[in-house]
Amino acid sequence: MQKYLYIILLSALTLACGSGTKKNNVEGTRILTVTIEPQRYFLDQIVGDAFTINTLVPPGTSPETYEPAPSVMVDMAKSNVYFMVGDLGFENVWSKRLAKNNPDVTIINCSEGIVRMEGHDHDHDHDHSHADGSCDGHDHHDLQADDPAHVHSHSGIDPHVWSSPRAVKIFSRNMLETMMELDPDNAGTYRANYDILLAKIEKTDSLIRDLLKDVSSKSFIIYHPALGYFARDYGLNQISIEFEGKSPSPSQIKEIVDVARKEKINTIFIERSFDTKNTTVVAQEIGAQVFEIDPLRYEWDEELLRIATILAREVK
Ligand SMILES: [Zn+2]
Repeated sequence: MQKYLYIILLSALTLACGSGTKKNNVEGTRILTVTIEPQRYFLDQIVGDAFTINTLVPPGTSPETYEPAPSVMVDMAKSNVYFMVGDLGFENVWSKRLAKNNPDVTIINCSEGIVRMEGHDHDHDHDHSHADGSCDGHDHHDLQADDPAHVHSHSGIDPHVWSSPRAVKIFSRNMLETMMELDPDNAGTYRANYDILLAKIEKTDSLIRDLLKDVSSKSFIIYHPALGYFARDYGLNQISIEFEGKSPSPSQIKEIVDVARKEKINTIFIERSFDTKNTTVVAQEIGAQVFEIDPLRYEWDEELLRIATILAREVK
């Protein structure tokens, strides 16, 4: 028995040493990097156990205020592919650097081919301070794009495409096509896995559609506007408390309260790590219920269904 164990250990060691010497080809390291957890959910189902998948933005962190640690670059550089969401400010900064320093890493924009929405509310500056005090919050349009201190999105595009099952089909197909090219030997497996994922996405979509059929108010309030594409898919109206990435002024709060009363809004969403003070003020004013949601959760389908179930609940 002991001898047997020794052989296993020895071969494990040999394997570990062997795999460390090759880099950036599919025979050696098999590492994929994604920005957020929902991406890992899709990619996991396409590639199975064939690759290790790293997520850049750890759970509970906002991707808009996220500034990757230098060690993250080292991990990214070992990857075969870096899958960007596409329109998050810091992704552009980091992918440019990655392309310059590690041209072997394939960089893929997963939002390619998705009809994107404008995002006026996406000038993020919350919970974020610049060490040199050079940034006054609004006026950073002239700053250099590759300056990592200024990672906020200024493209005017709403980056939260993954809240839409319809968009996610394209998002995942971009991943599939990349994997088929990278690892043609397993292309058939990836394709079959993708078909199963596609059926799951479609099932989620139809369950949500069913849930929202008779929803009492078509509008909802959310602190940070993370559900724009979800709202677009299901004919809903998203009203955000956060204004251009900042806390709202008293007059903006009053405006939201007025609209909420007119449209009989009874649901307010808030993401973890976002300011709750203004959310509580609005909720008390209009007598709406506040629900914490996590659009960055790995269990993408469960979270969207949860959100739909909240919107569809019976309001007394
Ligand atoms: Zn966001």
